[in-house]
Amino acid sequence: MKTLGHLINGMRVDRAERTQEIFNPSVGEAAGQVSLASKATVEEAVAAAQAAYPAWRDTPPAKRARIMFRFKQLLEDHADEIARLIGQEHGKIVHDARGELARGIENVEYACYAPELLKGEHSKNTGPSIDSWSEFQSLGVVAGITPFNFPAMVPLWMYPMAIVCGNTFVLKPSERDPTSALYIAELAQEAGLPAGVLNVVNGDKEAVDTLLDDPCVQAVSFVGSTPIAEYIYSRASANGKRCQALGGAKNHAIVMPDADMDNVVNSLNGAAFGSSGERCMALSVAVAVGDEAADTLIAKMQEQMKSLKVGPFSDKNNDFGPVITKAHQEKVCGYIDSAEQQGAQIVVDGRGIQVPGHDNGFYVGGTLIDQVTPEMTCYQEEIFGPVLLVVRAGSMDEAMKLIDDHEYGNGTCIYTRDGEAARYFSDRIQVGMVGINVPLPVPVSYHSFGGWKRSLFGDLSAYGPDAVRFYTRRKTITQRWPSAGVREGAQFSFPS
Ligand code: NAD
Repeated sequence: MKTLGHLINGMRVDRAERTQEIFNPSVGEAAGQVSLASKATVEEAVAAAQAAYPAWRDTPPAKRARIMFRFKQLLEDHADEIARLIGQEHGKIVHDARGELARGIENVEYACYAPELLKGEHSKNTGPSIDSWSEFQSLGVVAGITPFNFPAMVPLWMYPMAIVCGNTFVLKPSERDPTSALYIAELAQEAGLPAGVLNVVNGDKEAVDTLLDDPCVQAVSFVGSTPIAEYIYSRASANGKRCQALGGAKNHAIVMPDADMDNVVNSLNGAAFGSSGERCMALSVAVAVGDEAADTLIAKMQEQMKSLKVGPFSDKNNDFGPVITKAHQEKVCGYIDSAEQQGAQIVVDGRGIQVPGHDNGFYVGGTLIDQVTPEMTCYQEEIFGPVLLVVRAGSMDEAMKLIDDHEYGNGTCIYTRDGEAARYFSDRIQVGMVGINVPLPVPVSYHSFGGWKRSLFGDLSAYGPDAVRFYTRRKTITQRWPSAGVREGAQFSFPS
């Protein structure tokens, strides 16, 4: 069985290390294995990044950006192969994988703009013959640790901008579907990155902890589940590193009684079940305001869900594929069991779904659960599967309070035809990314992506303008050139 290694100092590196199986979840069989980097391997990658840093730091930003232009082209040229690699290991349908890649490419496009973004600020005559300016300098070696659910896109949220800002990078992709990230990093290499500027180490906790503790690593970007995000943030910060750690979610949609219900149902179907619900922006809770809205929503959803097509990633006619692992399939079904035991009503049940010819695949069918209440485990925790919960609220304020009281604050959405209600909602809701009749309000690459509350630890969001700030630090320089013959005496007080 093939073993995936690492990319260190511009070369594929294979070591005799611990390994883990990589599955093809559509068929439920191991398709290869991945090396789990030892501390020594990670230290070697960090040393390569550290060695590459001085020359890369001094490379003009426009030259760095030109490599990103070439990288973008290579990503487009190899899109089919990348989508296949994503689908094979993640399970998402190939055209969804193409969509993921397209979102990633948008971040490369934004990184091409870095010379403009790095221009800094200048003020002439801040005092007599004194000029001041702020410049945005790179940090050094930066690390990125990424989740399984967007194996191509989330790394592309990070390193194109980090690198074009003058940093060097060590990426630790998810060990569950690592192949596309390594393949893409090799394309970046082919685009012209000097050896050592971008390194990829595959691995698990040992690799991550080595990055968090290595004094050469200046900053850490993390995306994953909330318990790990909190751990990463605490440990990286305790070690004096800059850190942004994006965590999990429980995204609610408020369905107002005046909403266009056919539109809501179409939109919720895609947002709840697309990619098997394994998106941090998936809508996993619909809060219907009033019983009439709830009953209509349930009836229409139930009808539409009859046509959901679940099956292998390679069939474009499927709506979504399997979940990532057998253990995750059992976990998702366990949440449905708990909802039933705690008194919710399973309207459409995706447990035990059979996909002919793919009997061992890790499938869970679309599931709709009514009469969910806030004390239930299925409501409190992130399920990360194709499960939509319906909670009934008596008013919009009651619905908003549910959202505000929840641990997570990643994304949310309101369906209404009332502009005043929408404005009230977007102004007050305690969530970082808000949609108005838009189910997945994922910011475009020239805005930034980040939740509130326990969906993000740190101050700056991912990609977009916040990424420029995260991957650089401000230096402010104040300058005077005294002209010959004009010399001042010592000044002991601030001039008034
Ligand atoms: P995860 O937290 O299990 O893993 C993420 C990364 O952390 C992986 O690279 C993994 O190797 C590493 N890791 C796991 N356990 C670790 C440990 N004990 N110590 C050190 N490192 C460890 O997340 P996942 O299951 O791969 O991804 C799904 C989660 O990511 C969901 O919670 C989802 O909401 C979240 N997510 C959030 C965003 C966002 O932008 N907020 C985006 C995508 C995914």
